[in-house]
Amino acid sequence: MSQYDEIYERAQRFLPGGVSSSARAAVAEGGPFYVARGDGAHLYDLNGRAYLDFSMSHGASLLGHNHPKINAAVRQGLDLGTICSMETRYHGELAEKICMLVPCMEMVRFAGSGTETTMHCLRAARAYTGRDLVVKFEGHFHGMHDYLQYNWFPTEAGRSPGGERTIQCESAGVPPGMEQFVIVLPFNDSEAVERTLSTRWDEIAAVILEPIDYNAGCVLPRPGFLDFLRDECSRHDVILIFDEILSGFRTGADCAQGYLGVTPDLCTLGKCLGGGAPISAFGGRRDIMSVVAPLGPSTHSGTYNGHLFHILPALAALDEYSSPGFYDHIHTLADKLYDSTNKLFQASSLTARLQGVGARFGFFFGVEEEVWDWAGASRRDVELTKRFRDGCFRRGVYFDVNGHAGFSAAHTEADIDRVLAVFTEVIDEVAKEVS
Ligand code: PLP
Repeated sequence: MSQYDEIYERAQRFLPGGVSSSARAAVAEGGPFYVARGDGAHLYDLNGRAYLDFSMSHGASLLGHNHPKINAAVRQGLDLGTICSMETRYHGELAEKICMLVPCMEMVRFAGSGTETTMHCLRAARAYTGRDLVVKFEGHFHGMHDYLQYNWFPTEAGRSPGGERTIQCESAGVPPGMEQFVIVLPFNDSEAVERTLSTRWDEIAAVILEPIDYNAGCVLPRPGFLDFLRDECSRHDVILIFDEILSGFRTGADCAQGYLGVTPDLCTLGKCLGGGAPISAFGGRRDIMSVVAPLGPSTHSGTYNGHLFHILPALAALDEYSSPGFYDHIHTLADKLYDSTNKLFQASSLTARLQGVGARFGFFFGVEEEVWDWAGASRRDVELTKRFRDGCFRRGVYFDVNGHAGFSAAHTEADIDRVLAVFTEVIDEVAKEVS
């Protein structure tokens, strides 16, 4: 029995699917990707084989793996005594730094995961407005709590013509009735937003969205759509929430809201906030955040909130993101990778496109025209994506079949040349297979 099979079989006896996060079961890829270690832009499998990583911990490792400053920050946390569930001077420093960098942030609170932050944003928005409904968009993902467990990757059956989408729950175990608090709209559809907000604004606490929908593979807002949302929300006193768990720090230290020039009322940050350490934050307008106890009646507490193992690496990560040239490097690699890959697709007989901005991107196999919503994204040919992904994996380039891919600051131009050479070979191979 191979080492892989031994580890997998043992894990399956005690962990559902052999994994700690259902996505890592990697059903489409044929099983979990067990890694022995990571360094820079590379992951190493159980046999020590190197893979150029284009998942980067689903976006958490924007600095690359094994970054010396992140490691030193974790060690500092150890030296300070594994302090847990206490405040230190570093908490306020990190909060201040976030407020200096991210346009909407006037006050923040820390948590451990993205899921917690979207849940707490909704709680704060409901406490502030006294309303219960939330508008979300089809194909946007906001974590695992029950409140938004709807229409993130709906099947065909979830799509209905016109505005409001048929509600589709993405998980068993969500109590029936929760859906009465959610309205699902198609992304980039100003008319649908206008119709819903103008008729039901007095029931709606918040509109939540990924300002760049990386979860659907990198779907940008149409020009003017976010400004329109901003105006409509302000007009009806509805709280606009940008879920920047994935888009935060991807295009610049001012996050997608700075890049796109629209400031929400509240936002979430996570993934690369900690440079690989598990920390998240939610925050925004001072008057809204003042509903959080002890200033107001909305609760937010957690034993592990703001653990020093996470606060200190986040301080180090934000220093890196704020350093001169950091995003020049990201955008140089992005331009080269995205333009060249699309040229390779155009020169081949395959129908495919790559959409990317900043350090993350998505492949749309079987799709020719630009994707602006879930109806477009869900036309993706999963079988073709899988063939392409498997061909890359065999050649030492790693990314998932579903959703989004991305690179880190540790990637070099030589790494991009290498992956483009691999893409050239695999496109040729897949084109021959399917012709
Ligand atoms: N929101 C967005 C936009 C995400 O992409 C994710 C995770 O992928 C989450 C929320 C949930 O974050 P977490 O997995 O840390 O709970």
